[in-house]
Amino acid sequence: MAEDCIFCRIVRGDVPSTRVYEDDHAVAFRDINPRALVHVLVVPREHVRSVAEAPADDPAWLGRLFLAANQVAEWEGIRQSGYRLVVNTGPDAGMEVPHLHIHVIGGEPTGWFARGASLRR
Ligand code: AMP
Ligand code: ZN
Repeated sequence: MAEDCIFCRIVRGDVPSTRVYEDDHAVAFRDINPRALVHVLVVPREHVRSVAEAPADDPAWLGRLFLAANQVAEWEGIRQSGYRLVVNTGPDAGMEVPHLHIHVIGGEPTGWFARGASLRR
């Protein structure tokens, strides 16, 4: 838990979010600035800054996050239509929030980079 981390505060319930999934390891909630019709963030409850700092001695730690993302896709009804899992890491990727998160993006064709065409019409 990092006191000044927005995603830690969301996990703790101190900042409101639209939660769509949770288990003992991860929490998922809707992105506040969606880039596609479905845009959910899956975050570990533990404050780990990025995937580069995920525990190397425990592959299941990262694996469970991706399985949570698959569960989100199932519940959002995009398992068949397809989705993108995006994990930005560090400055060159434009990472804004330094608490590891998987973007689950879909619900419309997005191509390689999501443009949110349907939302910007
Ligand atoms: P990244 O650039 O990968 O670090 O993405 C951070 C994401 O967090 C962006 O898509 C933001 O829209 C999203 N975000 C930031 N603050 C919040 C919040 N309070 N609730 C939901 N999503 C947020
Ligand atoms: Zn955090």
